[in-house]
Amino acid sequence: MIVLTSFKEASVMKNVVKLGGARWGPPFAGGWPEVEWMKPKRKNGTAVLLRDFGSDPLVPYHDYMLDLYRERWPAVRRWLGEYAELDVAVACWCPNTKTARAQIANFGTFHCHMGVVGDVLTAAGVAWEYGVEHETMMVRG
Ligand SMILES: [Zn+2]
Repeated sequence: MIVLTSFKEASVMKNVVKLGGARWGPPFAGGWPEVEWMKPKRKNGTAVLLRDFGSDPLVPYHDYMLDLYRERWPAVRRWLGEYAELDVAVACWCPNTKTARAQIANFGTFHCHMGVVGDVLTAAGVAWEYGVEHETMMVRG
């Protein structure tokens, strides 16, 4: 089972392979392998940020990231071949960043690229779920 979660939640999980699914991770996750295809960044290395998508960004962000992940499909398949049958926690910073905390304070929810990753994993037909914070507070594109 693949769990899409936060670095904080993943740090206390037992008996799972811990991976980083963000552009970078905290020092305590230094030894965790990173999932390159999941990173919300463009080919030129720049970050894909919600604020790049105007005043109503959720759907355009989601569509953009989905296109990016489609381009990375061979890498997604390779990764799934390696990890889909294992117990895996893939972590990002959310909701433990200043931006995510401000979103929660203002809207009760936060936005995260893991929303798009979840749709990719569903399309791939593998078993996965969100960690508690993503499940309960993440807004979907
Ligand atoms: Zn995130």
